[in-house]
Amino acid sequence: MLKVLIILQTFLFYPKCFSYTLNSYAAFYHKLMNNFRYFHTFIRIFIKNTKDIYMKYKTIIFALCVWVAGTLSAQSVYPGQFAGKMKLNTVAPVKVESFDLQDVRLLPSRFRDNMLRDSVWMTSIDVNRLIHSFRTNAGIWAGREGGYVTVKKYGGWESLDCELRGHTTGHLLSAYGLMYAATGSEIFKLKGDSIVTELGKVQDALGNGYLSAFPEELINRNIKGQSVWAPWYTLHKLFSGLIDQYLYADNAQALAVVTKMGDWAYDKLKPLSEETRRRMIRNEFGGINESFYNLYAVTGDERYRWLAHFFYHNDVIDPLKEQNDDLGTKHTNTFIPKVLAEARNYELTGDKDSKALSDFFWHTMIDHHTFAPGCSSQKEHYFDTKRFSHFLNGYTGETCCTYNMLKLSRHLFCWQPDARIADYYERALYNHILGQQDPQTGMVCYFLPLLSGAHKVYSTKENSFWCCVGSGFENHAKYGEGIYYRSAAGIYINLFIPSVVRWKEKGITLKQETAFPAGEATVLTVEADRPVRTTVYLRYPSWSEKVTVRVNGKKVQVKRKPGSYIALNRLWQNGDRIEAAYPMRVHLETTPDNPQKGALLYGPLVLAGERGTEGMQAPAPFSNPELYNDYYTYDYHIPAGLKTTMAIDRKHPARVLQRVGKELKFTTEQGDVLRPLYDMHHQRYVVYWDLKDK
Ligand SMILES: [Zn+2]
Repeated sequence: MLKVLIILQTFLFYPKCFSYTLNSYAAFYHKLMNNFRYFHTFIRIFIKNTKDIYMKYKTIIFALCVWVAGTLSAQSVYPGQFAGKMKLNTVAPVKVESFDLQDVRLLPSRFRDNMLRDSVWMTSIDVNRLIHSFRTNAGIWAGREGGYVTVKKYGGWESLDCELRGHTTGHLLSAYGLMYAATGSEIFKLKGDSIVTELGKVQDALGNGYLSAFPEELINRNIKGQSVWAPWYTLHKLFSGLIDQYLYADNAQALAVVTKMGDWAYDKLKPLSEETRRRMIRNEFGGINESFYNLYAVTGDERYRWLAHFFYHNDVIDPLKEQNDDLGTKHTNTFIPKVLAEARNYELTGDKDSKALSDFFWHTMIDHHTFAPGCSSQKEHYFDTKRFSHFLNGYTGETCCTYNMLKLSRHLFCWQPDARIADYYERALYNHILGQQDPQTGMVCYFLPLLSGAHKVYSTKENSFWCCVGSGFENHAKYGEGIYYRSAAGIYINLFIPSVVRWKEKGITLKQETAFPAGEATVLTVEADRPVRTTVYLRYPSWSEKVTVRVNGKKVQVKRKPGSYIALNRLWQNGDRIEAAYPMRVHLETTPDNPQKGALLYGPLVLAGERGTEGMQAPAPFSNPELYNDYYTYDYHIPAGLKTTMAIDRKHPARVLQRVGKELKFTTEQGDVLRPLYDMHHQRYVVYWDLKDK
C-alpha cells in the first residue's frame, strides 16, 4: 500500500514525473524501490510527530523524486574550490586541490545510507520552529497568537533559555548547502533559501546588522568579561552557514546578510582595547576567525581580515608557533577551530608560521592525543597522555573534535599529499563519523564512549540539538569531498568509497565500484570523450602489506611501500579499468602507557566485541529527553562481571580471530563476536581489551 501511495504522490506532486514514458517510468520505479527502505524510515520519522501528514508526505516525495531523478548545480573552502566566487585566491603553494562537492556523487554504500538518513532528518526540520527564537529575539510576529499555538518550540540547546540557541540554524544552513551540492536535489535549496529569507527579515528588524537568536546583550556580557556561555561560538555557526549558502547553493542574499553581520561585528569590536580583546577571547568562540577569513576571501574586504586577526588567540596559538605541546587539560573542541583559522590564514596570506603551527598541531594530535578510532578528548578536554589508558571512559571522543580534525586534515593534504594524512582521515571517518549515526533512527551521538561495556547514546529529535547534532547534520552530507583530490599531474584516489567523480578540467569521469571494507578490491572505470594522459595516484594504505594492481586485466608492478601512492601514468582511454586489491590483516594497538590495554583492528577498521543489552533500560540507548546535557553524566549501568578480557598472541594477533563468512564478523575461541565499531549500535561493546598473553 505504501508503495502505491508513493508512486501516486510522485505523479501528483512532481511535474517532472509526468514526462516519464512507461519504460523510463519502470526504470524510475526500480530506482525508487531500490531505495524504498529510506522512504520507509523517512515516513516513519515524519508520521510520529506531525499533525499534517499529507503535507509532509508531499515534501518527502518531492525530495525523493528530485533526488532520484535530479540534476545538479551548486558549489563547495579548500584550495581549488568555488571557482569564480572567491575575490582572493589561495596564495600559498598547494600541491593538490579539492574537488567541488557537486562533482562527486556517492553510489550505494554505508556512506550513502548515512547521507540519505541525514537528508531525511534535515528535511523534516520545520523552518518556523527552527527560527522561532530568532523571531522572538527581534520581536517579529511569529504566527497566530504570538506563536505559542502554531509554533512548537524545539528543546535542548535550541530552547529559548539556552544561551547557544540558534547554533543549529547555522549548522543546517551549511548542511542544506552541502546536501544540495552532494545530491542536486532542489528540496535542500528550497529549505536553505527559506531560512535565509526569514533571517533577512529578522536582521532588518534588529536594524544594525546584528543577527542572532539571542539578544546582543550576550555579546556585551562577553566584552565586559561577565559570565556567558559562548555567544561568538554560536554566531560562528551562522556566519559559516550563510557563507556556505552562498558558496554551495548560490544564495546571493545569504552573502548580503552575512556581510552586514560582518560590518556589525567590525563596528562593535574595532573600538575595543587590547586588554578587552584578550579578556573576551578567553571565552570559547569556535571558528569565528575561520569564517572571517572566508568572508575576506569571498569579498576582498580588509575589515574582515582585521576581524579574523582580532580573534587570534595569543595564549593558545603562540606556544604552537614555538612547537610547544602545551595542550594540558584545555577544552579540545575550543582549540582545534583556532588552528583551522590559522590554516586558512596560511592559504590566503602565505604566512609560514601559520603553516608550521598547523602541521605541528596536527602531528601532535595524531601522535599523542588520538584514540584507536581516530577520535580525541575525554569529557571534551585534553588529558595527561602519560596516563592514557586511565581516560578510556564513557565520555571519550566528542564528535565535533573529529569533525574539526577531518577539516584540518583536508587543508594539510592540499599542502602536501601525504598518505599518512589520508590514513588518518580514513580511520576517523570509518570508525568514528560513519558509526555516530543510529542506522535505525538517524539520530547521532555526542561522544564515542571507549569505556568497556558502554554503548553509544543517541540524541533525540526534539530535545537534544547538541553541538554534535549540529556538526552531525554536516558530517553525513559531505562524504564526497574527501575521496578524490587533483593536481596538474593527476588525480588522487584517497578513499575506497563507491562514487563517481567528474574531473571537468581533464574531461574525464572516474567511477569507483567496491564492496570495501567487506571486500578487498576496488575497481575504477574511466569515461573519457578523448584519450587523456595523466597520472592516477592510488593510495597505498599503511595497513596493507601487499597491494596488487591491474590495468585492463594486466598486472602492474607495484613497489611494496605501505603509506605511499602508486602512480599509474598512461594515456587513458574510454573504458579503461583499474583493479586494485588491498589485503587486510588483523593487528593490535595498545595504549602508550599500558601494554595490557589494546584494541584490535582489521585493516583500518577498529573491531569491537559485542556485549549485549543487559541492564539497558529505556530511554537507553537514547538520551533522556527530560534531562538537559545528560550525555555528560550518563550512567551506563554496566553489569557487574562484564567480560573485558582477550587472550592474545601478540606476535600473531590474527590467530585470535576467525572471520565468519563474507560479512565483517569475527569470532574467538572464547565465544566473543567482534564487528566493526561503526556497526556497534543499540548494544554494549568493548574496544580496548584487558589483554592476557597466550
Ligand atoms: Zn560537539
